[in-house]
Amino acid sequence: MAERKERRTKRSFHLVVKRERCKGCYLCMHVCPKDVFDKEEGFNAKGYQPVQAARPQDCTGCRACTIVCPDVVFELYELAETA
Ligand code: SF4
Ligand code: SF4
Repeated sequence: MAERKERRTKRSFHLVVKRERCKGCYLCMHVCPKDVFDKEEGFNAKGYQPVQAARPQDCTGCRACTIVCPDVVFELYELAETA
């Protein structure tokens, strides 16, 4: 029987946070299973304290934040694997 070889690689993602769109509801902070987000210290032009991806390396690409955000703040890209 042929041996099945599996190559396990860690997938990585790039999360873009459009801070000026954020209205500070913090739903994303509640749903993120990896605690990627913190509140920024400052405020955006709308007067809200936006979120920032404080621990982007922990993102698993589950897309929960992109689904829950009512203001389309996030863009999530999977980074291509490099050999
Ligand atoms: S869910 Fe969207 S609007 Fe609400 S805090 Fe997060 S990024 Fe901002
Ligand atoms: S894609 Fe998932 S793990 Fe990554 S920041 Fe959004 S909710 Fe967190």
